[in-house]
Amino acid sequence: MSDCLFCSIAAGETAAMRVLESPRTIAFRDNSPQAPTHVLVIPKDHYADLAELAGAGAGLLEEVAAQAHQIAVAAGVDQAGYRVVFNTGPQAGQTVQHVHAHVLGGRVMTWPPG
Ligand code: AMP
Ligand code: ZN
Repeated sequence: MSDCLFCSIAAGETAAMRVLESPRTIAFRDNSPQAPTHVLVIPKDHYADLAELAGAGAGLLEEVAAQAHQIAVAAGVDQAGYRVVFNTGPQAGQTVQHVHAHVLGGRVMTWPPG
C-alpha cells in the first residue's frame, strides 16, 4: 500500500533495525523504545489492524504471534516475562495503520496499562 510507513519498511525502502524475519513477517526495533526490549512484528502484506489480520486466515496471525515469542527468546526475556500488545483503534493509541505486535520486555511491567 502506498503511503504506509510499515509497508515501506517491509519493502526495504525505509530503514529499520531488523532483528528477525519469517516468510510472511518481519520484526524490527521500535525507534521510540518503551522498554529495554521493544520490537515490532508486522506481516509483510498490508493489514490495517488486528481485525483485518485475524480475518486473513491461513495461519498469518499465528505466524506473527510465534515470531513475537521468538523475539522474546532471542532477547532473553522469555523466562522473566514479556508483553505482546496490539494497539487497535484510536482509543487504544494505534498510530500506524499497518497492524503490528509490540513485544516489550526487560523490565517489570505494571497492570493495568495506561
Ligand atoms: P502504535 O502507536 O501502537 O500504532 O505503535 C506504532 C509504533 O511505531 C510506535 O511505538 C512508534 O514508536 C513506532 N514507530 C514509528 N515509526 C517508526 C519507525 N520508522 N521505525 C521504528 N518504529 C517506528
Ligand atoms: Zn502497510
